[in-house]
Amino acid sequence: MPQEFAFINWLRSRTPADSRVLVGPGDDTAVLVPLTRPILVTVDMLMDGTDFHLSEVGPRAAGRKAMAVNLSDIAAMAGVPTATVVSVALPTPGGREFGEQLYAGIRDLADEFGVSVVGGDTNSWAGGLVISVTLLGEATERGVVRRSGAKPGDWVFVTGPLGGSILGHHLAFKPRVREALKLHEVTGLHAMIDVSDGLAADLNHILEESRCGGVLFETAVPVSPAAFELSRTSGKTPLEHALGDGEDFELVFTVSPADGAQLVRDQPVPGITLTKIGECVDAGLWLEENGQRRLLEPTGWEHRL
Ligand SMILES: [Mg+2]
Repeated sequence: MPQEFAFINWLRSRTPADSRVLVGPGDDTAVLVPLTRPILVTVDMLMDGTDFHLSEVGPRAAGRKAMAVNLSDIAAMAGVPTATVVSVALPTPGGREFGEQLYAGIRDLADEFGVSVVGGDTNSWAGGLVISVTLLGEATERGVVRRSGAKPGDWVFVTGPLGGSILGHHLAFKPRVREALKLHEVTGLHAMIDVSDGLAADLNHILEESRCGGVLFETAVPVSPAAFELSRTSGKTPLEHALGDGEDFELVFTVSPADGAQLVRDQPVPGITLTKIGECVDAGLWLEENGQRRLLEPTGWEHRL
């Protein structure tokens, strides 16, 4: 397709030299310099109407989000993002300007986080915009942090306030890549995940993989201003938004009590406040208020015993 050919040339002309990339966009495949440490691979496909409303946000914000959600997954493993390939199905009337805006959004974050855009596939069709970003990363010398390492007694932390991301945070958030690497450097991370499904659901993913339980302290969960704003019309409390809303893209992690106490005291990660929101226990997912525990559904819905 001539349009695609022109687009690859455009992409090529905007791809800076990267010593990790032997062959960038424009050949049959990209070729990367072999790494010495384990390679992380993640992919996320975003669709107009599900992950964003294109008519409201425009292509640049859609492209940015497609890159951001993948960076957040690399962050959740405490990895270093390296290179990406991007597939897009453009809506037919979009045209070249549309594609350039979309890639500009991808590049905004790729450049900021040192990620090379090494290839892409561009098609157009009569449906809505679909973007699939595949992102590669590299483990640090300390290895990756999985969901499965939490232990009863661990302290549970979050890297920022939660809830109400639908009001804008889900498009504008900064993936916690640097914060995750700093944490990995200064403390012993047992398990980590990024909040995409909602705090209760994502903590539950850690607990299931780690075969233990957890309790969240109701008054400790940091609730975002957006959660308060949304609660004025949603019929839910701000806390319910913080527990159940998705796409906060903060990190939830567990550490030993000794490491946790040190994190609380030192606050070693610039720009964010690490908040202890709970502890791991033997079994179950609980919400605690005034010393009383009630079961918490992973969806964030609360059921009184
Ligand atoms: Mg994730």
